[in-house]
Order: sequence, then structure tokens, then C-alpha cells
Amino acid sequence: MEAVQAVRGMNDILPEQVGWWQGIEAAARKVLENFGYREMRTPVAEKLELFARGIGESTDIVEKEMYAFEDRNGDWLALRPEATASIVRAYVQHGLHGDSSYHKFYQIGPMFRHERPQKGRYRQFHQIDAEVFGLDGPMIDAEMMHMVSLLMERIGISGVSLNINTLGCPKCRQVYREVLKKFLSDKGDGFCEDCMRRRETNPLRVFDCKVKSCAQLLESAPQLIDHLCEDCRAHFEAVRDHLEKLGTPYAVNPRIVRGLDYYMRTTFEVITDRLGAQSAIGGGGRYDGLVRDLGGPDVAAVGFAMGLERLVLLLEQEKTKPVRSPLCFFASLGDQARASAFLLSQKLRERGVETEIDYEGRSLKSQMRRADKSGAKYVLILGEDELARREVQLRDMLTKTQRILPLDTILETLETIEAEKFNP
Ligand code: ATP
Ligand code: MG
Repeated sequence: MEAVQAVRGMNDILPEQVGWWQGIEAAARKVLENFGYREMRTPVAEKLELFARGIGESTDIVEKEMYAFEDRNGDWLALRPEATASIVRAYVQHGLHGDSSYHKFYQIGPMFRHERPQKGRYRQFHQIDAEVFGLDGPMIDAEMMHMVSLLMERIGISGVSLNINTLGCPKCRQVYREVLKKFLSDKGDGFCEDCMRRRETNPLRVFDCKVKSCAQLLESAPQLIDHLCEDCRAHFEAVRDHLEKLGTPYAVNPRIVRGLDYYMRTTFEVITDRLGAQSAIGGGGRYDGLVRDLGGPDVAAVGFAMGLERLVLLLEQEKTKPVRSPLCFFASLGDQARASAFLLSQKLRERGVETEIDYEGRSLKSQMRRADKSGAKYVLILGEDELARREVQLRDMLTKTQRILPLDTILETLETIEAEKFNP
């Protein structure tokens, strides 16, 4: 019979790769919690309307990439393409804003976008996402970018750069939009189909275009950074000043406009040149109007999202794969010895010692092969003779030396070895 395959663009993460993921997730949790973020977990499906309102009708995500479907009740739902809208919804729905002036949340999990699958671009992918509500000053913008840089360092990724920009506020953007529209129409019809449409619906988005000829035409485009109002200019300068004092390296890049409608003022991306066209590892910025537009209080907001698949691709380029191996393999010979080994293995596991065993009564040779493959540092060998003498052999797989222990002491001995692994 033909076997069923996974959905295109949706990947399995197999045990041999999962070490990368666990390492990244552990580093992310540690850094985010240090900075006062608290985890929130929201459903993977939401009402379609939430994303249309929260991301923007004329964005790539909502126009082309949404996994939207009608469920059995006739309700329109969508698999979440990003986490911000869901976190805002939960924050408003549960009235979380009432208990403190500001809040920091994070979420790690799968997102879904119907894109053309390629290296670094999938239909189910994973993000680390962080959001802050209730702070409108430049300090939190700078702190978030500083935190993202620290996160990269803790994950073990080097050679990425932080690009920052400002999108101004609706006031200065309105002025700029007209200036940009005029520039785009003066340039004629050389833009791609998408940009021709963006020119009418959402002109700023042209800077997000990945088509080379569009980027070339835009080289001489007027820049928003030269059309900022006084408040927006002061905010941006203060953000830069904080970053400099924090010692966080960055470059100002006027092309960082981000894909979502609701961004304003500070925007940023973490960029690499080692993943081809998939150059953005993560990005974020300020989106002060969104919470109010989704029916919540009028609070300021800043957030970022980072793609785990791209982080894993980068780690694979420069690091050796993390492997997980048990501390101990319990080999046995004979039915009685196997029954004792089975019971003692459970006791070892109960005490926190990672242990593997032989369940099948295989030959000692085949058990030793399995032990070697598992990467176990120690092998316990229990035969019928040893069992009769209440003894067991302990083999150190690294030094290839063996010693005999009283059977009654192995729990303590291995527990001590396990503890030394963490405090050598
Ligand atoms: P891109 O410009 O590469 O399409 P984006 O602007 O759509 O990225 P965001 O919405 O900012 O991406 O999401 C933040 C991060 O999530 C990205 O920088 C990337 O690392 C990751 N990401 C986004 N879409 C995908 C995808 N389809 N597959 C894998 N990772 C993704
Ligand atoms: Mg995209």
C-alpha cells in the first residue's frame, strides 16, 4: 500500500534534529524571562476576521498567504500566520491590561502561511514572538533590540546584523505617502505587478519587494526618514542614543518597512547574508494603534518575531549537531539478570539517571553495539554469575576500563556520576 506523505511545506522535526530546537527554545525562554516576559499560549486557529483586522487587508499575508477555511458550522477560521494579533486578542479578551501599567508576553509555536516552499521558507514554520503593551517611550524599543542581540549571542549565532528604521506616525506618513506616490508614478511602468498594485493601495510596501529590478528603481526614492514630524524624529534619536549606550551594534536602513500594516515609528530586522533570499531572521517594531483597533484600550505596543527554521539553518552551518545520549546502558545476560536489570533501570530513571536497557534478551555483543551507538558513557553488565554474587560490572566507555561494584550501591554510584555531570 502506498504510504501517506506529509503536506508540502510542512516538516517533521526528527529526533536527530530536535537538539537544535531544544537548545534555541531553552535559550529563548531564559533570555525572555530574564527581561520580564511571561509566556502565553494561544490557539493555532482564530476567527479569520482577527487577522484581516490585525495584520491588514492589503498585506501579502492576508491577500495571498492565509490558511483560511470554513468550518462545519460555517464560521470562517484561519490558521495563525503570526502571533501578534492572537496575543492582542487574548490581552483584551481577558482584561489583562487592568492589573498593571505595562505587560510583557512571549509565545513560541507553529505559524502557517501558504507560500512557495523553498529553503528557509515553509508553510508551517515556527516563531519566537514577544510583545510589550503599555509603554510608549523609546527605552523599550531599544531594550527589545538589545534583548534580540543578546538572544542571538546566547543561541550561538554570529555574523548577523541589526537594521533599524522608523516609519513615523500616521501624521508624517500621510505627507510622505503623497511624495512617494508621485515618485512611483513618475518612474512609469517598470515595477513588478505586485508593486504596480501596491503603488495604489499601500505604496510604502514597495520597499518590501524582493524583485531586483524594483529595488533598483527604488534606489533614488525619497525616504520617510527625511519627512518625520518633530515627535517622531526625537523618538528615533532617543532609540539610537539608548542603543549606543547599551553597546548594541546597529545600522540605519531606510528599506526596513516590514510586512504588516500596523507598524509605526521604530522598525527593525535581524539580517544575515548566509541564507540566500531568505535574509531576514526576525523583525519587529512599534504598533501603537493596533490594540485600540482590535477593540482594546488605547495602549502603545512593541513586538518582534523570529523564525526558528532560519536559526536552525544558521546553526547547522557553523556548529556540530547537539546529540543526546543516556548516561548509562544496562546490559544483561540470562532471564533472571534481565528481570533484575529491568527493575534497577526503572530505579535509576526515577533518580534522574538517563538509562537504556535491553528488553529482548539479545547477545552481549549486540547489546554492546547498541550501547556504543546510543553514546552511553557507562555500561552496566549483569550476568547470572554476577547476580548470584550480588555484583555488577561497570564499564567506562571512554577509558574502556571495567570495575566490579556491589549491586546494592549502583543507584548511589550512578546518581553521583550524574550529579558530577552538572557540577564537575
Ligand atoms: P520574509 O520577508 O522572509 O517573507 P516576513 O517579513 O514575511 O519574512 P515576518 O512576518 O516578519 O516575516 O516573520 C518574522 C520571521 O519569521 C521572519 O524573519 C522569518 O525568520 C520567519 N518566517 C516568516 N515566514 C516564514 C516562512 N514561510 N517560513 C519560515 N520562516 C518564516
Ligand atoms: Mg513573508
